[in-house]
Amino acid sequence: MDLTKSNLVDRLASQLYALTEVSKTLSLPLDLPELLNLALEKISQVLAPAEVGLVMLFDASSGLFRAVASCGFDLDMLKQIALRQGESITGKVFENGAACLLSEPQQVALAMADMREANLTSFKDSLYKDGLPLCALASPISVGSQKYGVLLLETIEGPETFSESDIPFVQTLADLIGLAIDRVRLQAKADAANQVNEAEKTRLELMATLSHELRMPLTSIKGYATALMLSDIHWNQQQQGEFLQRIEDESINMEMMIRDILDSSLISIDHLNIEPEPVRLDHILRDVVSETQRRVSDHQLLEEFPPDFPILLADTRWIKQVFRNILDNALKYSPDGGLIVIQGNVRPNDVVISIADQGIGISPEDQIPLFEKFYRVKNGNYRFPGTGLGLPAARAIIEAHGGKIWVESKLGQGTTVFLSLPKNKDLLTEQ
Ligand code: ADP
Repeated sequence: MDLTKSNLVDRLASQLYALTEVSKTLSLPLDLPELLNLALEKISQVLAPAEVGLVMLFDASSGLFRAVASCGFDLDMLKQIALRQGESITGKVFENGAACLLSEPQQVALAMADMREANLTSFKDSLYKDGLPLCALASPISVGSQKYGVLLLETIEGPETFSESDIPFVQTLADLIGLAIDRVRLQAKADAANQVNEAEKTRLELMATLSHELRMPLTSIKGYATALMLSDIHWNQQQQGEFLQRIEDESINMEMMIRDILDSSLISIDHLNIEPEPVRLDHILRDVVSETQRRVSDHQLLEEFPPDFPILLADTRWIKQVFRNILDNALKYSPDGGLIVIQGNVRPNDVVISIADQGIGISPEDQIPLFEKFYRVKNGNYRFPGTGLGLPAARAIIEAHGGKIWVESKLGQGTTVFLSLPKNKDLLTEQ
């Protein structure tokens, strides 16, 4: 092999190596600017004249080109540049749609001569050296008819500069960058579509829950009401009382479900509007407990709070809601009645409230997804009306208060729900 041939083979081999390296970099699962920064770094490592490089992308809404990635420049400074179509090297190469070599400093200066003052100043400030580049090779970045922007590689010090033979290679690099941009943008679109699908799925689940769960008590209410209205049957007073009681029970079930559903659609941790005020949690709980005890006779509710229970910062309305959800569950899932014990404990930095029932309990596997929306344990023996929204709503509220909620349970023995709320140091000193 003569010298020129061996030189050519060497160059092709190193270009092939460079392409492989850049392609590998561009397939990394990173966001676009990070990906392009890394690709530019790789390019400047494998292509000697490319001492600095940048990617300018066209933003159709503003009609301007902006730098998204660079190597060897101060990127923050480069980002100040906003080029119009036709302006400087970027604007011209984008318009012409073809790669362009500016092999002499005069050619570079000429192509940049129409750059607006502010842009030129930012460009010069972004370079860590005075003066304009000695040589530049720029290529449009496009995929099919979709034009994204321009890849610019520049020589600042030399001695190696770009030659005509580098043009196809740099064009290929720009094509690879174009494909990477395409991939990242398509992925972003797919992610956005998935999010919409998720929201739609949640809505459908909600509709399914609504229609299924509300139909049960409604059917029973309708059945008892129809029976009471039958003119040819005489129900005695006790029977009438029982029917009316069932109608009331089922109406309460429906009311609770509707409340859960409404709360859960209002409650997402980001949207929950908490208005904290100094509150006596023990007093709030006493109210909720006596309100609950009035409704039930098979269960006995006991509350135990130490006398020095601190004042906390909380939103009374939401906190009452949490206690109601948990107490309703304690009643519902202990169908044979029993004791429900509500205790308050004071720890150095927070307080912990526990609500313990003697009900059906929850198996360890079912305890894991308990706080996920719509999750309901499938109990073979009993059929309890519900939505699977009470505990997720409680968690969102407690977490928005800076607290935590968790359960301990044994199947067949009962469940204890714990929730912690932080103490407020300023309030403590006032007490
Ligand atoms: P639901 O409306 O179904 O009661 P929740 O979100 O309040 O929804 O509770 C989710 C599931 O957790 C319930 O379906 C039930 O299976 C289980 N669960 C909640 N609290 C208790 C409890 N105290 N005892 C037994 N199981 C419970």
